[in-house]
Amino acid sequence: MVMIGHDSLRFVAYPISDPDPETGIATINWIAEKQFPLDADWKKEDWNRQADINDFLPLFDDWRFDWIDVPALIEGADVVYEYPMVDRDPLPRWTDGRVTLMGDAAHPTYPVGSNGASQAIIDARVIGAKLLEHGLTPAALEAYEAEVRPVTTAVGLANRAGGGPDAVLQWVEDRCGGAFDTIDDVIPREELAAHAAKYKSIAGFSIEELNARPPIIPEGARVNR
Ligand SMILES: Cc1cc2nc3c(=O)[nH]c(=O)nc-3n(C[C@H](O)[C@H](O)[C@H](O)COP(=O)(O)OP(=O)(O)OC[C@H]3O[C@@H](n4cnc5c(N)ncnc54)[C@H](O)[C@@H]3O)c2cc1C
Repeated sequence: MVMIGHDSLRFVAYPISDPDPETGIATINWIAEKQFPLDADWKKEDWNRQADINDFLPLFDDWRFDWIDVPALIEGADVVYEYPMVDRDPLPRWTDGRVTLMGDAAHPTYPVGSNGASQAIIDARVIGAKLLEHGLTPAALEAYEAEVRPVTTAVGLANRAGGGPDAVLQWVEDRCGGAFDTIDDVIPREELAAHAAKYKSIAGFSIEELNARPPIIPEGARVNR
């Protein structure tokens, strides 16, 4: 996965298929992200609006490096979609009797931490565990919310406050305008490692913490109706 640029203009790319065994070519998903002033005219959120690459290709005109050719990637896409980066305040509650929220409906975080789906999957596991513990009751949903909402609130606020993984791109921009010979001279390794470890810990995917935990739902567990 590569992330290039800074808060105002950024390009992210990663493979979403295995490489073809003969050509070595994989399907790539990429994101070209541009920041506009808050009062700029913007289109209502919609994940499926087809975009015109000519609207943004010129911004990346000289982003050709010996290891990635950004304009070529943009021009090579079969289809391109446009969507706004949407940030919402964490909700004060999710549960009302026998109804609760999960996934993006409960915690639509600003999408910079690459973990919205992971958090939604954890929601499902925790709901399952609480149903096992409390039966098919509103108490199970309250217990799920009590455990998960503080965590997803912290993740959402961290993403917003530059605590997410890609915040380091802006650090480089601020410190040297993006021009350097050795990245270690701009950000010491320890600083990078500490930033990554902090976010992993907030989001709950610190490898050590995860491996030390028992399964959320024990194998073979069943809810008695
Ligand atoms: C471009 C992009 C990149 C992302 N990258 C990552 C990533 O790298 N890692 C990661 O972990 N997360 C990522 N996410 C976030 C992740 O996709 C979401 O957090 C996750 O899909 C949320 O799951 P969900 O089930 O809560 O909601 P959704 O996946 O949005 O599912 C909701 C479903 O409900 C359906 N629906 C809506 N209204 C109705 C209705 N009235 N009746 C019936 N069905 C309805 C919708 O069609 C949809 O299928 C990314 C998101 C986007 C947009």
